[in-house]
Amino acid sequence: MKENESFKEYKDRLDNALKNDFLRTAMDNFAVAYRTSRLNAFSEMDMDATVKEVAAVKANAVKNIDHLLSRFILKAEKAGIKVHLADTAENANKIIAQIAEQTHSKKIIKSKSMTAEEIHLNQWLENKGLEVTETDLGEWIVQMRKEGPSHMVMPAIHLSRYQVADLFSDVTKKHQDVKIEKLVKVARRQLRKKYIEADMGITGANFAISETGTMWITGPSECKITKGKKRQMHIVFLDNGRKKIAQDPLFAQVLQCIRCGACANVCPVYRMVGGHGLGYIYIGAIGLITTYFFHGRENAKNLVQNCTNCGACKAVCAGGIDLPGLIKEIHARIQDELGHPLKSLLLGKVLKNRKLFHTLLRTASLAQKHVRGATPYLRHLPMIFSKDHNFRVLPAITDKPFRDRFETLRSKVKNPTCKIALFSGCVQDFVYPEQLEAAMALFNQAKVQVEFPLDQSCCGLPVLMMGEKQAAKDLGLQNINAFKELNIDYIVTLCASCASHLKNHVPDLVEEYAGNKAAQFSDKVIVFSQFINKVIGIEHIRGNSIPRKTAFHSPCHLCRGLGIKDDPKKLIAKSGHEYIKTDEEETCCGFGGSFSANFPSVSKGILTRKLDDVEKSGADLLVTECPGCVMQLRGGALKQKRNIEVKHLSQIIQPSGSSST
Ligand code: SF4
Ligand code: SF4
Repeated sequence: MKENESFKEYKDRLDNALKNDFLRTAMDNFAVAYRTSRLNAFSEMDMDATVKEVAAVKANAVKNIDHLLSRFILKAEKAGIKVHLADTAENANKIIAQIAEQTHSKKIIKSKSMTAEEIHLNQWLENKGLEVTETDLGEWIVQMRKEGPSHMVMPAIHLSRYQVADLFSDVTKKHQDVKIEKLVKVARRQLRKKYIEADMGITGANFAISETGTMWITGPSECKITKGKKRQMHIVFLDNGRKKIAQDPLFAQVLQCIRCGACANVCPVYRMVGGHGLGYIYIGAIGLITTYFFHGRENAKNLVQNCTNCGACKAVCAGGIDLPGLIKEIHARIQDELGHPLKSLLLGKVLKNRKLFHTLLRTASLAQKHVRGATPYLRHLPMIFSKDHNFRVLPAITDKPFRDRFETLRSKVKNPTCKIALFSGCVQDFVYPEQLEAAMALFNQAKVQVEFPLDQSCCGLPVLMMGEKQAAKDLGLQNINAFKELNIDYIVTLCASCASHLKNHVPDLVEEYAGNKAAQFSDKVIVFSQFINKVIGIEHIRGNSIPRKTAFHSPCHLCRGLGIKDDPKKLIAKSGHEYIKTDEEETCCGFGGSFSANFPSVSKGILTRKLDDVEKSGADLLVTECPGCVMQLRGGALKQKRNIEVKHLSQIIQPSGSSST
């Protein structure tokens, strides 16, 4: 990756990666195979308990690092190891180069080490005239190609065997077969010479055991050439900002990472663009965060935006790290440090002013008439969009938002079964009011008393995704105040993203202003499918159309954000439709709020995969529980002329007689 790349240059690089058919296929095959192998490998294990244990052990080591380090040094020195402490990358490089000089080493072999990549050790040593050879096959391949690893565990995953055969043919000056076993033999033959000739070996260490001073060996071994003499063993401990991270109450968890690479393996963006697109040195979710600390904000500022906030990384992280939360935090920090872009600053200011925001939406609804035509969609994109954004058909803003319809939709309920307030979110209020109308019919039928506080506004997630943390806090507070006087049992929302944000993030965001009020508010928030199933009871529901083969797209914020997996499917079954399980039901659709606007080509790639998967299942109806996902999936299905109709869950279970879109 180029230093200090502009956003445009970064996007161009991603577009090139998207055009790389081999990369696309390799990443896809890997993502699908990884999911199955992971399930099989961990089927007998209690993964939640294991992750908690790993996280606790690592957190404890971080907390006691000074004590553990001094004990390690004591033991290691007793075992004849020379221990060095390097506070910066440069100092670590200097120490290692000095050891090479003192030992008259010219040829170095190196095993795989991400820390060595972090400090650009090879380049440093090569600049000193030393020959460094990577001995991990993947690392050796990328070293010869003069590029960095594209995965922390599988460095050359982006390359085909044909590319490797060409490379090996160049290196050996002899044509090489593309068979993998033959290529491995070529590598063995080449590397064996390097082992024999080496003066010095370098490796990273996954674990250091302070009780014994052990890495994977304890102390230098006997030198076979000079009998009775021992080899030298040096250990370089690198700080490079880690102690500062350890003292940060929020970011200390970053040090719980065990560099397993799982956060990349499940990331929908990594799957599209590979590690050179989603990383600087460290790749995947953890790379988006550590780049800021180890390689500076200039190298992190584009990367941190390239995240759909799908939460897949957090769900598999062996170190129990809240990766999406930290990515958003880094994004906000970078904007505070470098200045907020006009676009996000303006959006934050507009959203914070509910009256202004809603007036603008109403004005836009009138202004869009010439681009709208007779359908509920925009015929062509307004000027603020570029042609890249044309990958999905966009819906028009409604003529009459839900807030203007509510009074005519509510029924006066005597002896209600339950009292609720609806949280609509901006998209359902101003774009898809019919989704809320369908729910209202159901609530009325179930004798639920419904309120709709008009002071409610955007949930704040879109601005949080754009690095505008203060605006997200202000919106959280406005919403808490909008609902606080109501005598209600639940705050029901039909948007999984709003529900997850209001429940999981708002209390932390507004804690300093709202204290307990925030927790009382978020405790009442419940998503539609769970409310219908668990509160008013599934027997109140009936379907409203002829049964169809129906796939479900589980919004990321529903299945991972809220941990709700079965409620929507139970409702599909109750509606009389035939639920069809798709392979990637819980994989992101590529919407991600501002993500799809910032990275339209990546968003399109993720969306296309999702639609392929639904089409493969034979379903012609696709149901979901988030208006953002509806916008993405329906817009994509229409644009790509797929035989897939996309609906919100509320629209397939409304009582007959209600209208549906
Ligand atoms: S939240 Fe999703 S898109 Fe973002 S880094 Fe994690 S897996 Fe990737
Ligand atoms: S999944 Fe967690 S432990 Fe594994 S590399 Fe990513 S951040 Fe580190």
